[in-house]
Amino acid sequence: MRYCALASGSNGNCYYVAKDDTAILVDAGINNKHIHLRMSSLGIMPSHIKALFITHEHSDHIQGLSVFAKRYQIPVYITAGTLAGSRLNLPDHLVRIILPQEVVQIGPLTIYGIPKYHDAKEPCSFMISDGKLNIAVLTDLGRVCDNVKTAIKHADVLFLESNYDEEMLDKGRYSYYLKNRIRSGWGHISNAASLQAFLENRSSRLKHLILGHLSGENNRIELVQETFEPHCGDIRLSIANRYEHTAMFEISTAEVHVERLVIVEETEEMQRIVTSERIEIRG
Ligand SMILES: [Zn+2]
Ligand SMILES: [Zn+2]
Repeated sequence: MRYCALASGSNGNCYYVAKDDTAILVDAGINNKHIHLRMSSLGIMPSHIKALFITHEHSDHIQGLSVFAKRYQIPVYITAGTLAGSRLNLPDHLVRIILPQEVVQIGPLTIYGIPKYHDAKEPCSFMISDGKLNIAVLTDLGRVCDNVKTAIKHADVLFLESNYDEEMLDKGRYSYYLKNRIRSGWGHISNAASLQAFLENRSSRLKHLILGHLSGENNRIELVQETFEPHCGDIRLSIANRYEHTAMFEISTAEVHVERLVIVEETEEMQRIVTSERIEIRG
């Protein structure tokens, strides 16, 4: 599977996941000029994007959606609440209404909807699986609920929000109202909460942690790096910055099996766990 963040931050979000010639985007929250520039710089063909999955109606997640979907006639998987909460100008034939906990198959990819706490009408996160590897995209998390924990436990690749530094938010210039909105349990999670979620829920299958949705006002890349780096061990750590796409990453089953075979005693057991895996997400 290949994956990257075309954009990640409180100024715009767009995540790409692909298997062979089938790709999907989670959110399209940057304008089309930037979507195209970044896709072409990473060698992504828009014609390979088979579906758009939308987490919620905030503009940093849908800004470029209508134009992009219409231009390439790509179906948009979106909850009724998100659609109602947005002023999207989408033709009916491109709209696919989903429940926040829906499971959708797009070619070789299975996309799990994951309901979440966020100050939007009917928000959800998504985990994308090819049946063996799971890539979770978890941003705009009001809190680390059981669904978030479950997704982290099953992730081989984890895009995780690390939105703000508590002290920077506290001392920063945001209004009292906005500060409280962010930390209300319906806004975003801090670097500390994100680290705790990672430490308490990561499993031995996690290979790559990509932190994202950083606040421009209340966070710094170096701070996120310092917070997580000492805890990552063998897990690859990347931090998406607000101004450019990440690299295109790739993870293959072969790589995972080789690494799992290192622990000979556990190999059979772990493969059994992988193949018999059922992801329980609560609606
Ligand atoms: Zn957002
Ligand atoms: Zn949001």
